Amino acid sequence: MENETVSKNFIEVEIDKDLAEGVYDTVHTRFPPEPNGYLHIGHAKSILLNYGLAKKYGGKFNMRFDDTNPTKERTEFVDAIKRDIQWLGADWEDRLFFASDYFQQMYDAAVKLIRKGKAYVCDLTAEEIRTYRGTLTEPGKDSPYRNRSVEENLALFENMKNGQYKDGEKVLRAKIDMASPNMNMRDPVIYRVAHTSHHNTGDTWCIYPMYDFAHPIEDAIEGITHSICTLEFEDHRPLYDWVVRELEYPHPPRQIEFAKLYLTNVVTGKRYIKKLVEDGTVDGWDDPRLVSIAALRRRGFTPESIQMFVELCGVAKSQGSVDYAMLEYCIREDLKMKRSRMMAVLDPVKLIIDNYPEGEVEYLDAANNLENEALGSRRIPFGRELYIEREDFMEVPPKKYFRLFPGNEVRLMHAYFVKCESFVKDENGNVTEVHCTYDPETKAGSGFSGRKVKGTIHWVPACCAIDAEVRLYENLIDEEKGVYNEDGTMNINPDSLKIMQAKLEPALKDAKAYDSFQFVRNGFFCVDAKDSQEGAPVFNRIVSLKSSFKLPK
Ligand code: ATP
Ligand code: MG
Repeated sequence: MENETVSKNFIEVEIDKDLAEGVYDTVHTRFPPEPNGYLHIGHAKSILLNYGLAKKYGGKFNMRFDDTNPTKERTEFVDAIKRDIQWLGADWEDRLFFASDYFQQMYDAAVKLIRKGKAYVCDLTAEEIRTYRGTLTEPGKDSPYRNRSVEENLALFENMKNGQYKDGEKVLRAKIDMASPNMNMRDPVIYRVAHTSHHNTGDTWCIYPMYDFAHPIEDAIEGITHSICTLEFEDHRPLYDWVVRELEYPHPPRQIEFAKLYLTNVVTGKRYIKKLVEDGTVDGWDDPRLVSIAALRRRGFTPESIQMFVELCGVAKSQGSVDYAMLEYCIREDLKMKRSRMMAVLDPVKLIIDNYPEGEVEYLDAANNLENEALGSRRIPFGRELYIEREDFMEVPPKKYFRLFPGNEVRLMHAYFVKCESFVKDENGNVTEVHCTYDPETKAGSGFSGRKVKGTIHWVPACCAIDAEVRLYENLIDEEKGVYNEDGTMNINPDSLKIMQAKLEPALKDAKAYDSFQFVRNGFFCVDAKDSQEGAPVFNRIVSLKSSFKLPK
């Protein structure tokens, strides 16, 4: 761990160099999501990386919606994205921007290129443009419209803006090099006609800039120094540099690429999450089985656990994929000292203490977290009838089973030793009651040392248990088959959600949305913010207590 915190990632090395050489004298980063869906764990990495760099170098971090493609963008997504970034703790202060606020400047920039003879209006269809572009092994062919005069281009571009053409009829292209080995430099389209209302600018514009043209302008306008993006833009960097150079920005920003974060056997792409939401496989973008940030929050992950996770992942220059178990490791680490350890019985069966006085209730002290005294203690009612986990009793125990079976004695956590005397079954052979006797001498905290028992089980008092729905999750994806099929469909695990009707100890009565707890032996659980009702809480299992993950040395 210590190594990770002292050694610098390759982006920091580049930034150090830029600062030392005087290329920049400050660090200004941004996070530029397109508001066409919810953010996911991969975006969290980008957010925390950009925000973290600004903080580390005493610089600034901008929040900017890259909303230049009106067809897929919606205000619902803008609001959700803001909420998620705030929750993660990345603070943009007063620097919240929309690329669409710069449409006039982008238009002016295009005019500037036309005037410099560096852009032209082209009448080829999309299909023709593709054919003229050539291939990786063959150079492209000049468009017949490539040599239009500056005046003609200015007039035509203005007509484009004024709505004289239909979608696709004309485009504005950068005039670069149709023989460039880099396909992105073969006179890329920089403006297109789209008669579509925009979520922010309404019907003011019917032409919209292309991403590769818009993005460097957005960065330059905001004074971004390091424009950090993912690897798929590496081949676009020459175009990025061309745009800022030709537009003669005094402080050109610099693009640096890093590898996307992927989780093995987990759906991360926005497009695919959207599909699962739209076809009803999951119940919304915040379904706890997803790894959207909203889903992780609803499931009970904390910002701290996600921060820890992205730090553990590091920043790489080559593509890789990380195990979900690492994310689970992080949330366990974060919660284990911070949360109370409560008793909840997920699959209840009655336990009756035959020698305990009927109608009597006593209150037993229980530390909330033995490893963290600051969390205090609570009192749990105890009486003749309790609930225990069905799996904690067996009529015929297998080897090494130390829990309840006829004749065996166990410790009830925070309470007494009980010895199993008998049990009752229904007509289907299911156990309905386990009968025990208790030994009053063995009360927890009394210092009893007369004999030892090998098993300790948890319980909930029947008198005042709270009924709650508890949801246990498995991977949404069938791990045997992998995530995607060739036809773009996904392999869904039909058993990814299991619902239990649990009994909880009464102290959980006042648990509020997003509160989380350890349920001893069963895992960490969080109150579901969407489906819980007053007096009828629903708990999501965040993670079980068992771990298969080992921190790499
Ligand atoms: P997706 O591929 O999931 O649809 P996207 O890249 O289209 O995501 P944007 O809104 O364009 O989504 O992304 C905003 C920023 O987040 C970009 O800078 C992008 O590079 C970064 N980003 C997206 N996915 C990941 C990821 N898996 N890991 C790290 N950064 C990512
Ligand atoms: Mg995108």
